[in-house]
Amino acid sequence: MTQIIDGKKISQEIRDSLKARVAELKKKYNRVPGLAVVLVGDDPASAVYVRMKGKGCDEVGLKSFQHILPESTNEKELLDLVEGLNNNPEVNGILVQLPLPKHINELAVINAINPDKDVDGFHPVNTGKMVNGDECLLPCTPAGIQELICRYAGDIKGKHLVVVGRSNIVGKPVANMMYQKNDRANCVVTICHTAAPDISVYTKQADILVVAAGKPHVVTGSMVKEGAVVIDVGVNRIPDPADNTKTKIVGDVEFDSAAPKAKAITPVPGGVGPMTIAMLLSNTVKAFEQQNS
Ligand code: NAP
Repeated sequence: MTQIIDGKKISQEIRDSLKARVAELKKKYNRVPGLAVVLVGDDPASAVYVRMKGKGCDEVGLKSFQHILPESTNEKELLDLVEGLNNNPEVNGILVQLPLPKHINELAVINAINPDKDVDGFHPVNTGKMVNGDECLLPCTPAGIQELICRYAGDIKGKHLVVVGRSNIVGKPVANMMYQKNDRANCVVTICHTAAPDISVYTKQADILVVAAGKPHVVTGSMVKEGAVVIDVGVNRIPDPADNTKTKIVGDVEFDSAAPKAKAITPVPGGVGPMTIAMLLSNTVKAFEQQNS
């Protein structure tokens, strides 16, 4: 019987435990961790994500600072804001919502965030520590994926984990995190991408298959090993075959053909998605604890 991995439920469990942790911190320090989220421009999807992050903060008792800036904001103005947040003791975590408008250099902005407050885990200092297997703030979506794998894949030591996709925000960090020599990893990892003539050669060998290609249904049931744990990261909007006036969200994995072969599989939506904000809130609490230790 295939287990459907309920990301919403696990995300809620994590939020509940964070809520208790934040209440303890409030008692101990007489203040709570603070998360600053910066949005530049009026991209509707980004605006939704920023609102969800604010709601998440309210739910677990974090202090939320939202900076909504116009599209015309220049790089210097944004860097000055980041500098102010770096120096603000009430702000323990800083997240600049990506993508930024084209006239702003994203890398310059990410690099300007104090690595101790980099709750997105994208600063090169945190990336370097992650690659070295050192304690650091891990990127949120990969950390959520790791959490799901740890909860659903049993003993993962020595298991073959195949990642489809090598982006800096999902594929590469997942691969890096999952081959580390620790109890939450220690997998044998393969990464495949568009240069692979046939990704099924690799996906069919995966005990744990993480698909982050951003291509609807790039992995079908015939490409999945019997008994695999399948983590579908993809979020793709496609025309709804049942009603051509509508669209629907699907993952990178063809759920109906893959699910019967899998031991456990994430649905889209409701799998990896809800984990990302839970891990962001978790990173903010961790950043507060580290800054006060
Ligand atoms: P991305 O930057 O576009 O990277 C996609 C990667 O997949 C690239 O490395 C690309 O290979 C590889 N790829 C694309 N098509 C492929 C194919 N047919 N065969 C093999 N490899 C293929 O995407 P991303 O930012 O990593 O995001 C991936 C998906 O995850 C998207 O749908 C995104 O919306 C979703 N996502 C979800 C969350 C969440 O919270 N749920 C968070 C982040 C991203 P090359 O390098 O060779 O081009």
